[in-house]
Amino acid sequence: MQDMPFSDSSFQKHLDQGRLMGCRCNSCQELYTPPRPLCPTCRLSRMEWVAMSGKGRLCAFTAITVPPPALKQEGFSRDNPYAVGVVELAEGTRVVARLLGLELSDPDSVALGQPMEVVFIKGGPDGSGDTVLGFQPAAE
Ligand SMILES: [Zn+2]
Repeated sequence: MQDMPFSDSSFQKHLDQGRLMGCRCNSCQELYTPPRPLCPTCRLSRMEWVAMSGKGRLCAFTAITVPPPALKQEGFSRDNPYAVGVVELAEGTRVVARLLGLELSDPDSVALGQPMEVVFIKGGPDGSGDTVLGFQPAAE
């Protein structure tokens, strides 16, 4: 695993295998999710893969009522929106992810800061597409 490049495609491969991975700079210890090959803080490329806990808190979300074609095929529409948002991981980094289990018909019921846990969503209408990073409300 350590010799996979620190790229979006490696991040996707990990997701496909049910792992949320980030990388840590061995020079300044900064963490990144998704991974990046070069540390923007110290401009070195001494990265190593780290498994993230998959726990976090909801930072921001939006309901999308006009889905792209692939999600339209999965049944999302104006009447059945899906949610995308930002989750701050327990490790301190932030990821953009699909959000499940939020009451989108009543956005005021969705509490920012609520605990979330990772879920690996099988993409495509028949579940054979790329795995999509998702989060759902977690038990406290
Ligand atoms: Zn660094």
